[in-house]
Amino acid sequence: MSVVIQKNVSLKNKNWFQTGGAAKWFCEPQTPQEFQQALNFATQHNLEIFILGHGANILVSDEGFDGLVIQPKLQNLTILNMNATESIVQAGAGITMSSLIEFCLENNLIGLEEFSGIPGTVGGSVYINLHYFEFLLEQFLVEAQVIHKETSKIITVDKQWFNFGYNKSTLHKKEYFLLSATFLLKKATDQEIMYARGRRQEIIRHRKARYPYSHTCGSFFRNFYPKEVTLISNGKKAIWVAYYLDKIGVKGQLKKGDAIVSYQHANMLVNQGKATTTDIIEVAKEMQQLVHKNFGIIPEPECQLIGFKKYPLLKK
Ligand SMILES: Cc1cc2nc3c(=O)[nH]c(=O)nc-3n(C[C@H](O)[C@H](O)[C@H](O)COP(=O)(O)OP(=O)(O)OC[C@H]3O[C@@H](n4cnc5c(N)ncnc54)[C@H](O)[C@@H]3O)c2cc1C
Repeated sequence: MSVVIQKNVSLKNKNWFQTGGAAKWFCEPQTPQEFQQALNFATQHNLEIFILGHGANILVSDEGFDGLVIQPKLQNLTILNMNATESIVQAGAGITMSSLIEFCLENNLIGLEEFSGIPGTVGGSVYINLHYFEFLLEQFLVEAQVIHKETSKIITVDKQWFNFGYNKSTLHKKEYFLLSATFLLKKATDQEIMYARGRRQEIIRHRKARYPYSHTCGSFFRNFYPKEVTLISNGKKAIWVAYYLDKIGVKGQLKKGDAIVSYQHANMLVNQGKATTTDIIEVAKEMQQLVHKNFGIIPEPECQLIGFKKYPLLKK
């Protein structure tokens, strides 16, 4: 099968903010071979490439993306028995974390349920090294298959290759893209599975009660690295962006058109219906200006900005 490449495809319904323009070219490869064909198309036509997961951590420019958007629909899920206590699960980059967690629980494997309620695919989650409190996705990843942007060569890499950190992985260089990832998970008894399912439900309930759940990208700015801040709170460096924004008082207040800082979380922006990406950028920029004016530091986006001709926010 050959990959189908479409022209002028709207990205508005393919990202969680539900804003932004169209991709000049768009495709959904279902196999690594189709992914290779897509990359070859981009090389032949000298196109910029963007790999789209579930669109849960991106903001697309109102002008759209003048290149090829590849949304991998690689959906393979396989279990390999390791030993009496652990198993390995290989998941395609296009599988959602939610489907992966359900698959693991159905097969009596635990660990990943700590990421319950976080939207996104395996591809986007490895890219950012998905995090929730003390849990990082790297704690479970053992190896992965990646594809080189220019040569289309597929290689298997280990965890070290990713050079993971908070919000950080080798994938940020955009030289390689993820095809699949392999996770090492603990085999559980039926009783442990019941506990894990309860925990999953509780995390989802907690998240839905505390944070906005749609028309947002989650946290807009990444938290600060300890070396970037001097303020101490409760004996620790104050690294949480929301801490500074809360002190300023932006929740439910800062607004442009239908773009508003969530009343639930000071580091989350929400599209209340008809916001444009330009509206969201204006609010985000004002958040940066306020933190800079009051505390002398500039928050940097965790949200990936796509298709902007010029960087639209304040730079450090
Ligand atoms: C309501 C809400 C709550 C959230 N809570 C959290 C949270 O608690 N913790 C957290 O860490 N994040 C959170 N996020 C952010 C988001 O869920 C994660 O960043 C998620 O991993 C994004 O996955 P995605 O598939 O949607 O990636 P996308 O948003 O589509 O893409 C994000 C980045 O990943 C890259 N990418 C995607 N697939 C691949 C691939 N196959 N190969 C290489 N690069 C790829 C893209 O190019 C892009 O740069 C939240 C988001 C929302 C909307």
